Amino acid sequence: MSDCLFCKIITGDIPSDKVYEDADVYAFKDIHPKAPTHVLVIPKQHIDTFADCEDPALLGMLLDRVRTIADDVLNLQAGYRIVIKVREGGGQEVFHLHAHILGGKKLPF
Ligand code: 5GP
Ligand code: ZN
Repeated sequence: MSDCLFCKIITGDIPSDKVYEDADVYAFKDIHPKAPTHVLVIPKQHIDTFADCEDPALLGMLLDRVRTIADDVLNLQAGYRIVIKVREGGGQEVFHLHAHILGGKKLPF
C-alpha cells in the first residue's frame, strides 16, 4: 500500500472530516485550519506535486471541482483563496497534489 498520507485518507485508512467526494477528487477539512473554512481538495490519482503533473485536463478538473466545492458545498459566495504549494520551497509538506480552499473571513495578504 502507498505510504502517502493523503492516499490513506482517500481509502479511509486514516480518518478525515470529509466535505465532498466524487470519482475524481476527495475533499476534507484541514486538521490545522488557517481560516474559519479551510478545506483540502485532492485528486484521487496520486501525483507528488503540481510541478510534476503532466496532465492539463487533471489540473483543469481539480480547479473546476475547487470552484464547485467552494460555491455549492462550502457556500463561500463572499469569496475565498486557492493555494497550491509547490515543493519544499513553496512550503509543501504533504507530497500528494492538493489545493487549499481558505475562506469564511476577509483574508489578509
Ligand atoms: P501543504 O503544506 O503540504 O500544502 O499542506 C498540507 C496540509 O495538510 C496542512 O495544512 C496540514 O495542516 C494538513 N494535514 C496534515 N496532516 C493532516 C491529517 O492527517 N489530516 C488532515 N485533515 N489534514 C492534515
Ligand atoms: Zn498520495
